[in-house]
Amino acid sequence: MAELMQLKCPNCSGPVEWAGGVGAECPHCGSRFLVPTEAAEQLACPKCGKVDRVQKASAACQTDSRLRPPQEPSRSDEMEGGTAFALGVALAVPFSLIAALLFAAALWEFVGYGDIYGLIALAGLFFVGFSSIGWVSAIQGKRKRDRGKRRYAAEKEKQERATRRWERLYYCARDDGVFIPGETPFIPIDRMQEFLYAE
Ligand SMILES: [Zn+2]
Ligand SMILES: [Zn+2]
Repeated sequence: MAELMQLKCPNCSGPVEWAGGVGAECPHCGSRFLVPTEAAEQLACPKCGKVDRVQKASAACQTDSRLRPPQEPSRSDEMEGGTAFALGVALAVPFSLIAALLFAAALWEFVGYGDIYGLIALAGLFFVGFSSIGWVSAIQGKRKRDRGKRRYAAEKEKQERATRRWERLYYCARDDGVFIPGETPFIPIDRMQEFLYAE
């Protein structure tokens, strides 16, 4: 149905993409001309049957935020999970080791310097305790990050499909709705998102 949109310049015969309205401007020779009646009938708003107040959605969105292109999905889960993973790993290994040695040394001093094997065993116990907290946090963080990545990929795909639809939309200011010429019926503005994201 894309050939519907292809107007021909009466001056140089170059292809002109219709941007809405009763006229068009040739990007090749700069001449302006009226959209021929037959073409106007095919391009017209399905509700009022006219082209005079029609504009490409990508142009109309400059002044009407309701027509904005589909928004980029959020990556917050992925980033939060990534941070938790990194902190968890840091806690699991270097911090745990240092903390375990400090605690064991303090306790060893407190109990009056017993044997060195007691200190090592104590430090080992502290290390296992601290680092397991770190590992739990790292594993949970990694799961959250991976879930976030998958969710983002799925939403990104939907957003890209919606954007391809949005790029072909025209907006009729008279009826406050959108359509793809020759392809869709009239879609009221409040149902535009639903249309863009439909499977
Ligand atoms: Zn021309
Ligand atoms: Zn209309």
